[in-house]
Amino acid sequence: MKKPHIIIVGGGFAGLEVARGLLRPLKQGKIKLTLINSTNYFLFTPLLHEVATGGLSASSVAEPLREVFVNTKINIIQGLVTQVDADQKIISLNDQQLSYDIAVIATGATTNYYDTPGAKEYTLPLKTLADAINIRSRIIDAFETASLLTDTAQRRELLSFVIVGGGATGVELAAELAEFAFSIEHRYFEMSSSCLRKNEVTVTLVSTSAELLAQFPAPTRQVAAARLQGLGVILRLGVAVGEVEQDGVNLNDGWRIPSSLTIWTAGVKATLPQFIDESTKAKLWSQTNNRAELGAFILGDAATGLPLLAQVAVAQGKVVARNILLHLKGRPLLNFVYHSKGSFVSLGQWFAAGTIGKINMSGRLTWWLWRTIYLFKFASNKKRLRIILDWTLNLFYPRDVTRF
Ligand SMILES: Cc1cc2nc3c(=O)[nH]c(=O)nc-3n(C[C@H](O)[C@H](O)[C@H](O)COP(=O)(O)OP(=O)(O)OC[C@H]3O[C@@H](n4cnc5c(N)ncnc54)[C@H](O)[C@@H]3O)c2cc1C
Repeated sequence: MKKPHIIIVGGGFAGLEVARGLLRPLKQGKIKLTLINSTNYFLFTPLLHEVATGGLSASSVAEPLREVFVNTKINIIQGLVTQVDADQKIISLNDQQLSYDIAVIATGATTNYYDTPGAKEYTLPLKTLADAINIRSRIIDAFETASLLTDTAQRRELLSFVIVGGGATGVELAAELAEFAFSIEHRYFEMSSSCLRKNEVTVTLVSTSAELLAQFPAPTRQVAAARLQGLGVILRLGVAVGEVEQDGVNLNDGWRIPSSLTIWTAGVKATLPQFIDESTKAKLWSQTNNRAELGAFILGDAATGLPLLAQVAVAQGKVVARNILLHLKGRPLLNFVYHSKGSFVSLGQWFAAGTIGKINMSGRLTWWLWRTIYLFKFASNKKRLRIILDWTLNLFYPRDVTRF
């Protein structure tokens, strides 16, 4: 009998969890499983801000998919899916077509610029490994160039960094960026013969919400705001960005912030991939509980209705894997109900805040807990050890400022 072919599009948190849940029937020879991802690695996004600010090396947060699924019979393909034909049950990518019995769409979200003029052209997002490396390079470049400028105003403009977005990504990045930038300023330039003087660096966080971390409980929000201010981050809250230009950000209250590097963390949107045709889109969009009439499941950040979080994607992945097996047996599917396991936000070295259940916590112990939890999310011991090593070195040595 022909084995049902399941194709997972997207090797992020959701896609990986579905694949893991199907390993046993794969091993037993009951199904054929293919995983397609646009890169050949799984990216651990929650630590991306540390790559952008010299705390972790790029390879620490990327796990090759072939390594994650070594000794399994999964067919792994690196490629960009360009079309899913739900009527013919065919997926197109690169120059090949694959037929499937069940497709799992887990292609993640895209950056939301809210149609802000100039935002797409003049800001950097923080979504991919390339984004993180790019941000780090631009910060280091700004210092190298500023160190040669004799004009104070020009130096200040070059060393003004702006982050747009007061959610978890913006807050975590602002804390790390402030530590990174102020330590570079002090350690390498103030003390040397460069033109740079004290207090020429500014890190500004702009958010439309009147408070940071709108989705977190009040104690976490307050701790985060105080911590960022303590680190020297200027907070411009309750005001929207009207326009972004190459060298600055214009706020809707008429204020302008000069900026040599503007990072856009203001939002992501759950968008169904463009490669799904309109009629399929309409049907998939309404499948909030990942039902399988179309032979296609959609989950993670690509689906709507739930917070765009890794823990949601992983929880959905577990249910979708089980539902695929139930569907193949012709049995009723499980509903997906999301229960938050709590949330943390890192606030620079040695400090984090967050909640588990009704318990609010912050400080060094929370930071340690946050790091320990994340470490266990990695698939391989090799990556865990590499990260522990990076973090340990960070305790004794400054962050890496090599410009690649
Ligand atoms: C900087 C940052 C920090 C974050 N921090 C946290 C955090 O601390 N806690 C938390 O819970 N969540 C966090 N998130 C959110 C979390 O990363 C997402 O919710 C999670 O990644 C969603 O998982 P997913 O599998 O749906 O999508 P993703 O993990 O984005 O995976 C989608 C995959 O699909 C691939 N893909 C896309 N299109 C195609 C295509 N056409 N063909 C083939 N492959 C394709 C992509 O390459 C990617 O590998 C953070 C996100 C970012 C960007």
